[in-house]
Amino acid sequence: MRIGIGFDVHQLVENRPLIIGGITIPHEKGLLGHSDADVLSHAITDAILGAGTLGSIGDHFPDTDAAYKDMDSQIFLAKANELIQAKGYKIEHIDSVIVAQEPKMKTHISAMQNALAKTLNLSTENIGIKATTTEHLGFEGRKEGISAHAVVLLVKQ
Ligand code: MG
Repeated sequence: MRIGIGFDVHQLVENRPLIIGGITIPHEKGLLGHSDADVLSHAITDAILGAGTLGSIGDHFPDTDAAYKDMDSQIFLAKANELIQAKGYKIEHIDSVIVAQEPKMKTHISAMQNALAKTLNLSTENIGIKATTTEHLGFEGRKEGISAHAVVLLVKQ
């Protein structure tokens, strides 16, 4: 077995869609980034790559590459999954936390699980997604950005 950890942050700005966990969430602001800025998918991608000792998301999908402009981050996740499978591993379980003061994530969690399950060819039972505020503390609490943490367990096929 192998474990991986991932962390990501994106800034909240106007005139961007809010895409988290592969779904678009209605909100007056969205996350800024070179790709679609899906903070949760990026954290999980990094956790998968880390568990595979395959570097980081920036190594595989550099934000200086125009090919990845506004890219659907589900493509990053699917690619990371292919890379660990090529090394003989499969994802056993994912757990994650979204850190956001707003919007409330609770009603969107199951749609995120469904989207990520489809991308990674996993059961929703193996994709943990939780959300928390920071009680108005820090950049998430000031609604300047959203962060996400993820851990992934791989098993040898
Ligand atoms: Mg990112």
